[in-house]
Amino acid sequence: MKHIGQHAVVIGASMSGLLAARALSDFYAVVTVLERDTLPQSDIPRKGVPQGRHAHGLLARGRNAIENFFPGWTDAVVASGGVRGDAAGDINWIGHGVTLKSAPSHLVGLLAPRPVLEGHVRRRLMALPNVRVIDNCPVQELIAGEGNAAIKGVRVRIGSGEDHRITADLVVDASGCGSSSVAWLEGLGFARPEEERIEIGIGYTTRVYRRRPTDLDGKLAIVVAGSGPNWRNSVILYQAEDRWIVSVGGYFGDHAPDDDQLFAAYAGSFPTSEIYDIVAHAEPLGYFVRYRYPANLRRRYERLARFPKGYLVFGDAFCSFNPVYGLGMRVAAQEAVLLRECLNAGDADLARRFFARAAKVIDTPWDIAVGNDLRHPKVEGARPAKCALSTGISASCTWPCVMTRSSRPPSSKSPTWKRRRRGCCGRIS
Ligand SMILES: Cc1cc2nc3c(=O)[nH]c(=O)nc-3n(C[C@H](O)[C@H](O)[C@H](O)COP(=O)(O)OP(=O)(O)OC[C@H]3O[C@@H](n4cnc5c(N)ncnc54)[C@H](O)[C@@H]3O)c2cc1C
Repeated sequence: MKHIGQHAVVIGASMSGLLAARALSDFYAVVTVLERDTLPQSDIPRKGVPQGRHAHGLLARGRNAIENFFPGWTDAVVASGGVRGDAAGDINWIGHGVTLKSAPSHLVGLLAPRPVLEGHVRRRLMALPNVRVIDNCPVQELIAGEGNAAIKGVRVRIGSGEDHRITADLVVDASGCGSSSVAWLEGLGFARPEEERIEIGIGYTTRVYRRRPTDLDGKLAIVVAGSGPNWRNSVILYQAEDRWIVSVGGYFGDHAPDDDQLFAAYAGSFPTSEIYDIVAHAEPLGYFVRYRYPANLRRRYERLARFPKGYLVFGDAFCSFNPVYGLGMRVAAQEAVLLRECLNAGDADLARRFFARAAKVIDTPWDIAVGNDLRHPKVEGARPAKCALSTGISASCTWPCVMTRSSRPPSSKSPTWKRRRRGCCGRIS
């Protein structure tokens, strides 16, 4: 361990904040994670992470990074009911009405409820002797040093009591896409970063169902990527031996209703009957929950000419993607790996080095998410050539699996299915 400073503070105890704290714990004598929410005793959804009620899968690269930070973490999640899944062998991917060929990719991700993934990271982090997590502790503002050239700490409110100052050598904002960093920094005299905002007006409706062993022919998940002319998305993921989570939704208000019959009708509009079959025939295990996601949002901190020393922006606060592509936690884990690498070289010029490298990590996932969204005729934005080699490239090419060739029609029962076969390309993990 290379000692860099006495105290680092992280704002937000969701996936990004926890992983950033893990990276920092190798370099700072004490790391404090400040969380606005009351953190639950068990692995249940919480207010500050409302997406925790919706389908989440962790891609292989993210799982590998977390496993590297916390050896044995995957086994612990599996012991809690999660399951490892091969990105191409265990999941049915459908885009443009094409089901990709199923074959082992050796890209092994992890399927478990989002609160379980986070809970296991949080417990492992809190077991580290130099890390503490303080909940019920919203950060109110940054404290800057003389001339505002450096951030020296944060002002917090603990419980409903008075405000306190917490000093730190480094503050990392991992407070999600609603981050106040832009406003805080502007208040200190820094320019706003350029923002790339791609409006998509996506809405998801989610429900948990009893899993039957025969569902999906024993596969662990099915993902339908919206692609013209049917832009609706669907994700069904294994949550535990006996349950599925089903999230479906569409762009610009084409959201699934939270009503049994209408939800089933919506599920019947996909180019495979497997989604309808689960929604219409499996036992529901809870109520519908909804989530609205207005826009992909990338803040270009790496392009700012001036940025204060002792401050970083991380995870969704830096860049947030259309959730259907399942990229957020994976990118957060990669950023944590990068942060560790950057700190290994010391803290001189840390923000510039970290943002520059993180921007490169974000480039491909951003192109994938935004590239596919921009193919929707109502999504506004410049169409980069590399994101749309042709409309003949299936949306499914953007999915994180080894692309080979369509192997079988999704379901001949489906009214919208058209038989097509397509060679395909690309791979992300
Ligand atoms: C519907 C949906 C589905 C998704 N599915 C996937 C998926 O399948 N795979 C995947 O990899 N990613 C997925 N994502 C993305 C993933 O949820 C996020 O990328 C991931 O949670 C990391 O986000 P984060 O930690 O940066 O921010 P968040 O998860 O938003 O957490 C921010 C944290 O900061 C806290 N906070 C906010 N303000 C303050 C403050 N002032 N003081 C203190 N604390 C504060 C909040 O309470 C919260 O705990 C999905 C997202 C959505 C919306």
